[in-house]
Amino acid sequence: MSLQKMLEYQKTDLVYYRQEKELRESEERKRAVLCKNKFIECNNSLQELSKALSGYFAAMQKLAAKITETEEMKEQLSAEAEFKTEDDFIQYENQLQEYEKIVNELSKEFTKVTKSIADAAAQNRAINDKMDALNREYMNSTQAFNKKKTEFETKTQAIRATLDNLAKDIEPNYLKQYMELRKNKKMPAFVPYMDKNCGACGMDIFIEVDKKLQNPGDIAECPHCGRIVYKK
Ligand SMILES: [Zn+2]
Repeated sequence: MSLQKMLEYQKTDLVYYRQEKELRESEERKRAVLCKNKFIECNNSLQELSKALSGYFAAMQKLAAKITETEEMKEQLSAEAEFKTEDDFIQYENQLQEYEKIVNELSKEFTKVTKSIADAAAQNRAINDKMDALNREYMNSTQAFNKKKTEFETKTQAIRATLDNLAKDIEPNYLKQYMELRKNKKMPAFVPYMDKNCGACGMDIFIEVDKKLQNPGDIAECPHCGRIVYKK
């Protein structure tokens, strides 16, 4: 008797379930989800970029310190220079040239890092613009989806009331198992035992369930798909 109620409930619920599925798979929802995913993607790129920028800044600070250090060494060299012989002078000149070479190299590096920072900043702006656009699109698509959802709720009000009424007469344990299967999108959840086979997945379940399915209305769980199999 209670199984009969359960099956009645399922029959009505299948109509509601299809409508729910339609809403879930609607263009409006797909668009909103797509926007959201793209937004998350952008956000990740932004974080990557931020990490790269921190690295560039650290490199720049190091370089700046090195340049200062090298220049200080050069000044010290000039201050302490003594030219007793021509060789002293030549040696001094050589050292000076060496320092200039190092400073030039460092300056070049510095320019390179500065350019990387500028590039990253431009990229950052581009991503931010893209995120602004995505955010607007997300708002629009969400609005469209919410409208559709409200329509759905109005449209399904009667069927939901019917289901609530039917649910009152069903054994709680049946309903609980049904809802669990429904949540996992295993619909229909209650299926007939058909000639040794599960009425949903079609597997031969004779060995596992036949003993439990002796009288009409008996139920058992299909060991393959997890649905509830009942004896007609
Ligand atoms: Zn099955």
